[in-house]
Amino acid sequence: MLPSKFYAEFNSEEKAIEYFKSAYQKKITSCKHCKQAKLRWSDRRVGWKCSSCSKFHSLKSLTFIKDSNLSLLTWLEVIYLLTETKKTLSICEITRLIKINRYKTVFYMVQKIRKVMGEVNLKAYFSKRSAIEVGIEKECDYFSVFYGKQVAGGLDFIRLEIPQYLHNRYRRMSTELRGKESFRNKKILLSRFKVYEIYPKYLRKSIESRTLYKNWERKILSNFLRELKGVFHHVSFMYLQNVLDEYCFKYNFRYGKEDKFRTLIRIASESS
Ligand SMILES: [Zn+2]
Repeated sequence: MLPSKFYAEFNSEEKAIEYFKSAYQKKITSCKHCKQAKLRWSDRRVGWKCSSCSKFHSLKSLTFIKDSNLSLLTWLEVIYLLTETKKTLSICEITRLIKINRYKTVFYMVQKIRKVMGEVNLKAYFSKRSAIEVGIEKECDYFSVFYGKQVAGGLDFIRLEIPQYLHNRYRRMSTELRGKESFRNKKILLSRFKVYEIYPKYLRKSIESRTLYKNWERKILSNFLRELKGVFHHVSFMYLQNVLDEYCFKYNFRYGKEDKFRTLIRIASESS
């Protein structure tokens, strides 16, 4: 979707609310408190109110945006910028484009969205795996590549992963984070590791190991490394998996007929 079209369609907070509401409506059919299907939409409070026990369910709380004070329009804009551009944008660039002055605010938004991208990638079925050599600063010497074909669309799906030993190291490091500042980091990182471990063990076992075709391997790797050098510059290894998730999401849905930001919100709303 072209930026001009996107900004014409989503020109107010109401439009963004309407969009999220239509995506998440099917997720809430009855009150979570008293289990009765007597929910009424409230425009003023942006959410559903139960008419029998008057428990309020906000729209935001159903989405992955939970516990954020920013408007849904800002979120939608960031999701759009992350998914629909051909080349990826750095967090600084997004900060400039959406006119938010605080780097950290956008940083956490982007990490949350990348986490959802990781979950979406994991929904694919992978039948093969391979390792490609990277050798970034001697710390990370290979990525695992999981790949497979989608049955319906015939698209090839990939998922790049940092090696298991790095994963274990950063998991340990993030559980040891202390203090106020680290609370948000911890939340983001630990949920990321949960995503990482979600792929069913029995499926992992059935994945056949083989070497990739040289050409394909080179393309995936050099495209990613170019982004890493040119855009992300100093991404720490702790967040490298999130960057990989974003890269794979864009790769996997590059031929999708639906706008990519719609795909992301649709699949996210279908999962619990
Ligand atoms: Zn109720």
